[in-house]
Amino acid sequence: MDAEVLIVGAGPTGLALAVDLARRGVDHRVVDRAAGPFPGSRGKGLQPRSVEVLHDLGVEVLVADRPRFRAYDGARVVAEWDPHEGRVPTPATPFPSTVLIPQFRVEAMLRARLAELGGAVEYGVEVSGFEQDATGVTAVVGGDRVRVAYLVGCDGGRSSVRKALGVGFAGETWDDQRMVVGDVRLTGLDRDHWHTWPHSPAGMIGLCPLPGTDLYQLQAQADVEPSLEVLRALVRERTGRDDVVVREATWMSLYRANVRMVDRFRVGRVFLAGDAAHVHSPAGAQGMNTGIQDAYNLGWKLAAVLTGAGAELLDTYEAERLPVAARVLGLSSDLHRQVADPDVRPGTRPEEVFQLGVSYRGGPLAGVGERAGDRAPDAPCELSDGTPTTVFNLLRGPEFVVLGLGVDDALAMVRDAHPYVRTYSVVDVAGHVEAGYGVVAPGLVLVRPDGHVALTTADASVVVAYLDQVLG
Ligand SMILES: Cc1cc2nc3c(=O)[nH]c(=O)nc-3n(C[C@H](O)[C@H](O)[C@H](O)COP(=O)(O)OP(=O)(O)OC[C@H]3O[C@@H](n4cnc5c(N)ncnc54)[C@H](O)[C@@H]3O)c2cc1C
Repeated sequence: MDAEVLIVGAGPTGLALAVDLARRGVDHRVVDRAAGPFPGSRGKGLQPRSVEVLHDLGVEVLVADRPRFRAYDGARVVAEWDPHEGRVPTPATPFPSTVLIPQFRVEAMLRARLAELGGAVEYGVEVSGFEQDATGVTAVVGGDRVRVAYLVGCDGGRSSVRKALGVGFAGETWDDQRMVVGDVRLTGLDRDHWHTWPHSPAGMIGLCPLPGTDLYQLQAQADVEPSLEVLRALVRERTGRDDVVVREATWMSLYRANVRMVDRFRVGRVFLAGDAAHVHSPAGAQGMNTGIQDAYNLGWKLAAVLTGAGAELLDTYEAERLPVAARVLGLSSDLHRQVADPDVRPGTRPEEVFQLGVSYRGGPLAGVGERAGDRAPDAPCELSDGTPTTVFNLLRGPEFVVLGLGVDDALAMVRDAHPYVRTYSVVDVAGHVEAGYGVVAPGLVLVRPDGHVALTTADASVVVAYLDQVLG
């Protein structure tokens, strides 16, 4: 084998997978046919669950920037509000709100983390074909034939990997729903607000400051090939203000709403993740987030199978992520339709948008206990030597983790059977662990490497049997 895993595409999905594989020591290549990193903002909302995932991957996202929404009618301000009002950190959810951050910054942080782990994206390298057999995949990578154990298509909505597999991409193209998107430098607007003209007669326009840059993202309902002049004209027409002047555009695009998803996430040794598997409206900022979490679900499973777990573990990727993609499609389509509804405030979000409720309950990896399959919540606690900590600190890292409440012997039994599983004896000082995990001392919580509850039990042999079955 030339590498164990070939990742096709270095958008947020491919990068998240590369980081996860790199920290597990999996020999991989991540290639992108583009000459360098994508320069445009595209997705700009990082959901709370993705912030947790990135924290686990070793990428710290600053959560300080939170502009308020300001709605105008022409030059007149008609309303102003905080779309995250009332969303405060809790013991279970330290990052409760969407973080506004351009996709290129998320990608840059992932590339920096990958570099720390010794990896790098190979730009200007296209995968132009592949074939698979029982033992591996032979791909044409930058003109060379490369042999790998697994190939993952993270190659975006027009995925050639998906097409080569012949996997269907059913859904709709909303031809009448076009949007001009661009990153601009402008004068005349402050950077403390997401300025929006939701009901301008010619169509909506929004100008959102992109934190950490001097850019604004312009979004306008319009079906016109963008240019600097076009952006200027859209702003003039829809804001009714001469003092808001676009000086420069660093990226622009005409976006066409596609709402489609695959019927399979895997064919043999080839997987699809991110936009290659599902594309949807940008409403609700779900695209980048869902792709990152596809990667996070798949990474540990690939690593486990490459080190001896049964190959059927890889079937659970589709079983767990396909229903999530289907729900995201429905959610983002509903939000898309609401953009035209004068009674709905832009930025108002249902709880589902934050992706904290994504659960694999009832799925093939859900063990016993009432929270099995759910996201593992945070909780302040102490180690048995009195050191204060949090569950998220204990979970950080690539392994399965067992938290034991008053069950030291049971933890030792798990360690003897599975030495690479991390175990912690935890003192639940304020009851947050018991409340969050639905477990009472003496008890054990087994958490998966992707931060979902595998099971809760008082019986160590149940934990050992689960790990025997999943990891072999
Ligand atoms: C114009 C536009 C506006 C958007 N706005 C929003 C938004 O406001 N909010 C939101 O949440 N989402 C938005 N999205 C969607 C969001 O950007 C995507 O969900 C996200 O980029 C998906 O990440 P990905 O890594 O799966 O795919 P991509 O980011 O598309 O990355 C795929 C990569 O694969 C590479 N590639 C393709 N084929 C090959 C090949 N054969 N060999 C090697 N490399 C290959 C490409 O060069 C590319 O870098 C927008 C998308 C677009 C295009």
